[in-house]
Amino acid sequence: MSKVTRMVELTPPKGCSTKELMTSPGHTCRYCGGRGYFKGVWCRHDEPKTCPICGGSGQVDAVVTIEWKPKKGG
Ligand SMILES: [Zn+2]
Repeated sequence: MSKVTRMVELTPPKGCSTKELMTSPGHTCRYCGGRGYFKGVWCRHDEPKTCPICGGSGQVDAVVTIEWKPKKGG
C-alpha cells in the first residue's frame, strides 16, 4: 500500500498571533480502511453502517493547531 508522508516546517509568525491552524486533507481513514462503511463481520446490521470517523467518505482531514508560547526556563 502506498503511503504519503507530510512534514511541517515550523516558523514563528511575524505578527502578534500566537496560534496557527494547518489542515492536511485527504488522509485515508484507518478506522474503516478507506471504505467509509462497515458491514459483515464488522457489524451485525444487514445494511452497511456509515463510518463515524470519516462520515462515509473514506478519508479524513488532519487539522493541526500550533500554539506559540514564551520559552520556558533558561
Ligand atoms: Zn472511516
